[in-house]
Amino acid sequence: MSPRVALLGLGTMGAGMAHNILAAGLELSVWNRSPDKAAPLAEAGATVAATPAEAVEGADVVVTMLFDTASVLEVMTQAAASLGDDVVWVQTSTLGADGTDAVAAVATERGVAFVDAPVLGTKGPAENGSLVVLASGEESLRERVAPVLDAIGSRTLWVGPVGSGSRLKLVCNAWVLTVVGGIAQSVAMAEALGLDPQLFLDAIDGGAMDAPYVAMKTKAIVAGDFAPQFAVEGGLKDAGLIADAARQSGLDPRLMEALRHELQVAIDTGHGDEDLAAVYHAAKA
Ligand code: NAP
Repeated sequence: MSPRVALLGLGTMGAGMAHNILAAGLELSVWNRSPDKAAPLAEAGATVAATPAEAVEGADVVVTMLFDTASVLEVMTQAAASLGDDVVWVQTSTLGADGTDAVAAVATERGVAFVDAPVLGTKGPAENGSLVVLASGEESLRERVAPVLDAIGSRTLWVGPVGSGSRLKLVCNAWVLTVVGGIAQSVAMAEALGLDPQLFLDAIDGGAMDAPYVAMKTKAIVAGDFAPQFAVEGGLKDAGLIADAARQSGLDPRLMEALRHELQVAIDTGHGDEDLAAVYHAAKA
């Protein structure tokens, strides 16, 4: 039988994921702190709950897609009393290593089955169901969560024991932040040197250094299109998580700290809710 699903958090990522869970024919109840974001989901056939506890009542799988560890713990504390005995909690927000370990410990304490499942991909992939899910947890839970993970993603990579998915997510986001910082620097540099930034794309076109992501973000910067796919505020959070994980594992976090500084400058100059590409404004500052 198809699992009944509850999804808590309808931000940039959660909204798209919710639509795809419905499109897969699964019964879905949703909750969001700001209730206005739930209206389109009600129209699409989801049950909109007034509280996290109401949303998880009767659910077989509970998905969290919230901002950070504090918000996940806060919301799941509110939901706790209504969680069923056989529920599986699929945690998809980016919480880093320590955050995920803390949240998994709370799940264990409460006897709730837990799958760590951060995702790769931004707003577009969340909306079209093509996220890559970096899942980790007990093998026995895979079948129970598969209908949900298949609905939100094009691929699920099972990584290992709980927490390893979130560690891999840090590895991937270290790359994303480094590349975006590099693109912003190259565009700003081209402009500062009196060159058309398109020449940068022309120069790397088709070579080993080229990537769809580079063309996408360079074009967005040049067009001044900073509509959030992944906002600068989220990038700053993740740069902090990556730097902390690097330090704790004996690596020098200097590069990530430099990127963190750039992201902070973008926020301080009023670009926090814009796309990560707005780190360009820091390179120009
Ligand atoms: P977002 O648009 O900022 O949405 C954040 C969500 O968390 C909203 O539903 C927000 O509610 C809720 N929230 C924040 N603080 C809360 C609190 N204290 N109590 C209750 N709810 C709270 O962020 P997003 O881009 O969807 O990202 C969500 C998570 O996915 C983050 O961990 C992010 O790092 C990760 N992620 C993002 C992307 C991306 O490209 N955007 C990609 C992969 C992973 P309100 O609507 O009321 O503010």
